[in-house]
Amino acid sequence: MCAMIDNLKLVSLKGKEKTLIKVGDVEIGKDFVLIAGPCTIETEDQMLQTALEVKRSGANILRGGAFKPRTSPYEFQGLGLEGLKILNKVGRKIGLPVVSEILDTKDVALAVEYLDILQIGARNMQNYSLLKEVGRIGKPVLLKRGMFSTFSEWLNCAEYILNEGNPNVILCERGIRSFETYTRNTLDLSAVPVMKELTHLPIIVDPSHGTGKSALVTSMSLAAVAAGADGLMIEVHYRPETALSDKEQSLNPKEFAELSGKVKKLKDFMQRL
Ligand code: PEP
Ligand code: MN
Repeated sequence: MCAMIDNLKLVSLKGKEKTLIKVGDVEIGKDFVLIAGPCTIETEDQMLQTALEVKRSGANILRGGAFKPRTSPYEFQGLGLEGLKILNKVGRKIGLPVVSEILDTKDVALAVEYLDILQIGARNMQNYSLLKEVGRIGKPVLLKRGMFSTFSEWLNCAEYILNEGNPNVILCERGIRSFETYTRNTLDLSAVPVMKELTHLPIIVDPSHGTGKSALVTSMSLAAVAAGADGLMIEVHYRPETALSDKEQSLNPKEFAELSGKVKKLKDFMQRL
């Protein structure tokens, strides 16, 4: 095996129990976790309407972006701290824990006050200062795979977080760049069994960014479940056609309810295998 994988001391599976991370009602790693919500927090009403719908359909954790890593500087950059406050308020109101992405080390200390899980996005996977900063906090971290990253590079980034003293890392496969342009990314579902082989950390899948197309999200969610994923992260908007970011890949509440029902049926079926 590659030396950079052999060198992993803390995230490697060797001799270790699977990491279980208690967030709200779920123990991630043991219970299947369904994370859902809009790409971006736009208004309190948009967040609340969406949150009520995803909770009703079985989501365990609410997502919403406040600091958005946008390709163009002219695109909506998110509401920043105000967005985190809205997310926190809505999460508490409906009784769901919340997760959001942090882009900058300077925002970490403030963000932990409002979030149950801090997300490190694909573009920041190898931002070592940010990894060290979230390694020093007492909240779980959701670490997305960089779009140009190998499994070894990804696991080494998780190692940075554990090395600072934070054992609660959730890995998230969200697709990698390939020559294919029909889909936004190429969702690499082999990440799921590979991570089971290499690490004790839970691995979830984000088919929304993985495909970039709402019509593909349900099939790839079911494929992720069949591959053994510990959970899913799905972008849902109460009115996707009005979404300020990633409208093409966002499910509407009805589509999410259907996805959730199918995931549940597949999980039940898999228990009988
Ligand atoms: C997100 O989940 O909001 C996001 C920006 O995803 P990624 O970092 O995978 O592109
Ligand atoms: Mn998005």
